[in-house]
Amino acid sequence: MPKIKFFDTTLRDGEQSPGVNLNKEEKLQIARQLERYGMDRIEAGFPASSKGDFEAVQAIAQNIKKSTVLGLARTVKSDIDAVYEAVKDAAKPAIHVFIATSPIHMEYKLKKTPEEVVETAVTMVRYAKEKFDHVEWSAEDATRSDRAFLAEIIEKVIDAGATVINLPDTVGYATPEDYGSMFRYMKEHVPNIDKVELSCHCHNDLGLATANTLAAIQNGVTQVEGAINGIGERAGNVALEEVALALHVRSDYFPYTSSLKFDETKRTSDLVAKLTGMYVQANKAIVGRNAFSHESGIHQDGVLKHAETYEIITPALVGVTPNTLFLGKHSGRHAFKDKVNAFGIDLTEAELKEAFQQFKQLTDHKKEVTDDDIYAIVMEIKTDSSNIDKYELIQFSVSYDTKDTPAATVALKTPNGAKVEATEQGSGSVEALYKTINSLIDEEITLIDYQLNSVGGGKDALAEAHVQININEQINNGRGTAQDVLQASANAFVQAVNRYYIHKNANIKQLVHE
Ligand SMILES: [Zn+2]
Repeated sequence: MPKIKFFDTTLRDGEQSPGVNLNKEEKLQIARQLERYGMDRIEAGFPASSKGDFEAVQAIAQNIKKSTVLGLARTVKSDIDAVYEAVKDAAKPAIHVFIATSPIHMEYKLKKTPEEVVETAVTMVRYAKEKFDHVEWSAEDATRSDRAFLAEIIEKVIDAGATVINLPDTVGYATPEDYGSMFRYMKEHVPNIDKVELSCHCHNDLGLATANTLAAIQNGVTQVEGAINGIGERAGNVALEEVALALHVRSDYFPYTSSLKFDETKRTSDLVAKLTGMYVQANKAIVGRNAFSHESGIHQDGVLKHAETYEIITPALVGVTPNTLFLGKHSGRHAFKDKVNAFGIDLTEAELKEAFQQFKQLTDHKKEVTDDDIYAIVMEIKTDSSNIDKYELIQFSVSYDTKDTPAATVALKTPNGAKVEATEQGSGSVEALYKTINSLIDEEITLIDYQLNSVGGGKDALAEAHVQININEQINNGRGTAQDVLQASANAFVQAVNRYYIHKNANIKQLVHE
């Protein structure tokens, strides 16, 4: 059976979701998980866009061995050079070059004639080919481009050395029949089309991304681009886990294989949700919390008698396991280390020491420590890029009763080591806490979003808070995990503030809409 290659762009197109701003360590952890998931190709970022993105792509290229690692470039020499510098150490380095081909984009955005666009694309693909064997070329806004013009430019970039041709539905405008027929047209009208792999890239503005992707596959596409959980700007990219499971469950209809390890689906989804703060809706296909629960009595009865009556995907297939009871108060360092290794996460000795200490503290308060708890602890440590001077919470208290105005007192250590303290009131406990922290920091902070989730389940579950703040027009996310909701909330806020200072110069995000 022919193989469909999966190309993940969670770290590039997905990361363009408003407010998502991953640090290098977080990107690396996601890339490692994508590799475990069996992703053929990982688009690690857009190296020319910022120093931060360049460094993240470089770190991923140096650490990922099984998947191909790509960087994105506009049809500009300096972009292509930046990708080369960032990914040259990868086991399988590759480049993705794009230029727009639709009349509206060529005229208003590029201000180039169609002939100039062809000339630029060919010259830059040829330039990229001097540095890379694997050169993917994309026709941005392909679905609103003239097909005869597309066929002409595709033929020429293949001659110039492109090995993958990607035709994105950049604005999520296509319908399945329409999208599929575009690929069929290219197969029929581009004489050298059999020399390359065809790739699809769908956005979900009309909720058709998965359907469009499947239509593309039925018309000769062998590479699928998308993001985990379907994240991305506007309505997002196609959710790769949906395409993968649709192909698998309906293999009677789609005779293809893939390299994906389906039982890593849930963990990959959870990690991306956790680190981006883009939580998945409960009824989301494949990975939503309710995707396997059968509320109605009739369904439950059917599932109990014979699972296949209502269940087309088993929880085990996508790696949803009962949240196993893990270790207790008396568990030793070895058992703990084994558990962490089983997650596939490498800890340094210092990180292991810190993680074990936090685990021990947790067992003092929480009777049942689960896999999810351990994973949360380890991920916090692993993604904390905190070798800089930063704000640290020393202690805080919050007073609340139903009659009086809530108030908070906070003591912070500032980046230069001073201890500062303040008390403020607010209309709620969290507001009082945040107002007090803000009063100790020399920037005007606006809270954009605040979310609270529980890790795992049960009445003594860990709380995970997620905040999004605006400081000087820069959006930063922060995440905090603790047993108490106020502690988790405070940690998240302080982390977001610290990230502002880390990102301030390194990570001014430049968006591309391929
Ligand atoms: Zn896109």
